[in-house]
Parts: sequence; structure tokens; C-alpha cells
Amino acid sequence: MDKNVEVVVIGGGITGLVTTFLLKEKGVNVLLLEKANRVGGQLNTIDDEGFLFESGPNTGVISNKEVLDLFRKLGNDCTLQIARKEAKVRLIWKKGSFRPLPSGLLSAISTNLFSWHDKINILFEPFRKKGKNPNESIADLVKRRLGKSYLNYAVDPFVSGVYAGDPNRLVTRFALPKLHRLEDEYGSFIRGAIKRRKALASEKAQGISKDVFSVKGGFGQLVKALQKKIGDEFIQLSAGSIKLEPSSDGSWVVTLGSTEKKITSKKVITTVPAYALPDLLSFIDTKEIAPISSLTYAPVVQIGVGLNNNSRVPLAFGGLIPSIEKEKILGILFNSSCYDDRAPKGKASLSFFLGGMKHPHLLNLSDEEIIKLVKTGLHRMMKYPEDTPIEKIYIFRHSKAIPQYEVDTEKRLEKINLLQEKYKGLILAGGIRDGIGLADRIKQATDLASL
Ligand SMILES: Cc1cc2nc3c(=O)[nH]c(=O)nc-3n(C[C@H](O)[C@H](O)[C@H](O)COP(=O)(O)OP(=O)(O)OC[C@H]3O[C@@H](n4cnc5c(N)ncnc54)[C@H](O)[C@@H]3O)c2cc1C
Repeated sequence: MDKNVEVVVIGGGITGLVTTFLLKEKGVNVLLLEKANRVGGQLNTIDDEGFLFESGPNTGVISNKEVLDLFRKLGNDCTLQIARKEAKVRLIWKKGSFRPLPSGLLSAISTNLFSWHDKINILFEPFRKKGKNPNESIADLVKRRLGKSYLNYAVDPFVSGVYAGDPNRLVTRFALPKLHRLEDEYGSFIRGAIKRRKALASEKAQGISKDVFSVKGGFGQLVKALQKKIGDEFIQLSAGSIKLEPSSDGSWVVTLGSTEKKITSKKVITTVPAYALPDLLSFIDTKEIAPISSLTYAPVVQIGVGLNNNSRVPLAFGGLIPSIEKEKILGILFNSSCYDDRAPKGKASLSFFLGGMKHPHLLNLSDEEIIKLVKTGLHRMMKYPEDTPIEKIYIFRHSKAIPQYEVDTEKRLEKINLLQEKYKGLILAGGIRDGIGLADRIKQATDLASL
């Protein structure tokens, strides 16, 4: 054998990087294998003359303490950036204009996003019965408890923003477990929200919040910091097509496609996407692994747009477009309104999103067609003059961007458990389970490193 280590981690996205970093911190002999010639996976920042554009995530949410712990450990190598308080407002597109999503009782009453029928009916939400279908979709749950206008103008655009998904297909207990628990544990969203106030206050005291975060200089700096902490000698890039084999003595043999080099290890943690697993685990019958590898991913086109003036960009997080409005654009993030370092002073950096589960065909648009859509969006949605020049534009097409936790999730999770039982020392992780947000990925990595 060419090398023997305790743990091999496969896939150098945020999950694999954080897992490797934390294992290494604990003194474990670990090696990270990455197929591509760079680590970071979906995290990638472009810095072009003072404009920062992300090809993947723009922000995470500080929804657990593992995020804070990670940044504490990274110290000066990476600076956590919390979005400007004033930029917390979320805008929702309705009938030709953006309107703020209510953030308090008064605005919840006065908003014209929701119908009066649903606003009055929400008073009875605490008295509504619990649902019976364990795999109830987000859309069905919201219609049942809150009413159709809340689904159309709050939850549908939120689901677009997070999952690029379809609320009719996503299963609440897997896709939005916190929302599911409010009904499951407290019988009602409102009652649950009131009862959880104490717990929320204690979480807030620890720094856990709904605040969105990035990193000074963009998420590429987080990747750099993790790479530096791990050390290049513990990362194998351009590993090619990797094959895993269980060996008779209970260890694992990992063969690198690029060099035919063989590595043995006690434990292997995969963090690669679902569709990469059949090739990697070719010792498992493709039919047997199908409940995992068949996971659906939403396609997303993200367009980084740099403008030479920010005069029309609201001081808000961004604007989301509900499906019912039948627009091609899913949403626009106002990155330079959230963080100072996203664009040169007075200029704007925005991210446009297209595609998702409801418009997968938009992935096939040409650059010219995409630019035309962006220009129309700038003019019609953001009120920029029609001939506004675009200073920078980057188009990132992700054919398999975001895992969709749909009705097949239960079977997928069962299969993951079965395979982990059957093949001791093999851990199947990454976005195939435990959540798709950056905070979920960091939490999973922390859990993996403490197994
Ligand atoms: C456009 C977009 C926008 C997003 N926006 C947000 C957001 O605003 N907030 C948020 O919290 N989350 C967001 N996400 C989700 C978030 O980016 C992901 O959940 C997270 O980055 C996934 O990290 P990961 O390490 O689990 O997977 P990945 O980043 O996919 O990493 C997997 C790694 O495995 C490697 N790999 C694949 N196959 C093999 C193989 N056979 N052998 C070895 N290596 C292999 C890949 O090259 C990759 O480096 C967004 C995602 C996308 C695509």
C-alpha cells in the first residue's frame, strides 16, 4: 500500500473541509481526497476589480453554535461578516412591485401581500388540528394551517430562495424540520413560537440567531483558511475517479483514478453528491444504492451582476419572486447592500437567480438570453433606466445545485443507515442528509469529526 491513514474524507466542499480540519485538530491521521483541482466545492468567490461574486452560496445563517465554534477556531485566518442590520428586510414581488415581507405585528396586519381572509383566519391557527400525513408537503402544511396567500407570498418565495424548490414536492419534516417541529411538538406554529421564546433567548445569548453571515472577502476566504489549517500535504487534489473497496481485514482500500495510488484506512467518510456515489462505491450494486443516488437536485443559474451605481438598490437583503407571479427570475440578492466589501464604493453587486425545480429549462438559455433577462429585471423590477450599462457579469450554471428533500427522503435515509450498518467504517454524508444550508453542513461536519 502507498499510504495508510486512520480516516479518508472524500469530497473537498465545505463538509469535507470542515470534517478534515476538525479531525486533524483532534490529532487524527486524516487525508482529504478531492476529484477537482481545487477545494471548496460549491463555495467559490470571484474577485474582479473590487466586485465580489459568489458562484455558489452568498450567505449562511448563524443557526447553530457549530458555525460560531468553527469561526472561533479559524481565528484571524478568516473574518466572519454579519450582514448589515438595516439590510434584513426581505422584499416580495407582487403585481409589478417589490413589497417588504412583514417583520412585526403591525406590518403583518397592514401588508397587502396576504388576503384579509387569511389574516383573520390566522387568529384560529392555534386551534387547528395537527396533520396526519408524516410526509406532508410544505405547501399542504402551510395551506392547512395558514392559508393560500401565506403559501403564495411568503413560503413559496422562501422555498425558492433556499431550495430553488417546489413546496408541493418538499416534505416538511425533512426540508424544514424546525417548522415541522412547531406543529409536531406544540400543536401550532403560533403556540410553538410563543413557547420557544425562552429557548430562543438563551440561543441568542450564545450568539445563535437568524442573522445571515458571509466572510470578509467572500466564502473563498473560508475555503483558503480551512485549506491552510489542514495543510496541503493532507489534501490530495485532482484525485480522478476514486474507487473504494472493503478489505477482508475490516479496513478500506481507496484507489485514486489519477495515479492508481492505493490508500488504506479504518474509516471512510464520503461527502460527495448523491449522483457520484455509484462510481465511488462500485462494490455496491447500482440497484441497491439507487434510493440514495436517485436524489433529485434543482438546477440553478446564478448571475453575478456589477453595476457602476447603486442608486436603485434597496437597503434590503434581496427580492424574491413568488411562482404565482409567473416571472422567469426567481430572486435577486442585493449583496452590496448586505456587506461593504462586495462592490467598490457607490457601485452595486447583485446576484440574479433563474431556474429551480419549477423552471429547469432555463438552464439551457444562452448567455445572450440570460443577459436580456437580467437587463429586463434591472429595469422592470429595480427601476434602473433601460440603457443602464452592466459593468461586470458572470453566469454560473449549476445543473445539479441543490438537493431536494422530497417524498423519497425516508427511503434514502433508511438505505444510508442500512449501508453504514452493513459496511462498518463507511460513513455516507454531505448534502444527501442533514440539511442543505451552510450551517447544516458545518454542523454535520462537526458531528462527523466527533464520532
Ligand atoms: C447556486 C447555489 C447557491 C446556494 N446558496 C446558498 C446560500 O445562500 N446559503 C446556504 O446556506 N447554502 C447555499 N447553497 C447550498 C450550499 O452551497 C451547499 O449546501 C454546500 O456548499 C454543500 O457543501 P458540500 O461540501 O456538502 O458539497 P459540495 O460543495 O458539492 O462538495 C462536494 C465535493 O465533492 C467533490 N466530488 C464530487 N465527486 C467526487 C468524487 N467522485 N471523488 C472525489 N470528490 C468528488 C466535488 O468536486 C466537491 O468539491 C447554495 C448552493 C448553490 C449551488
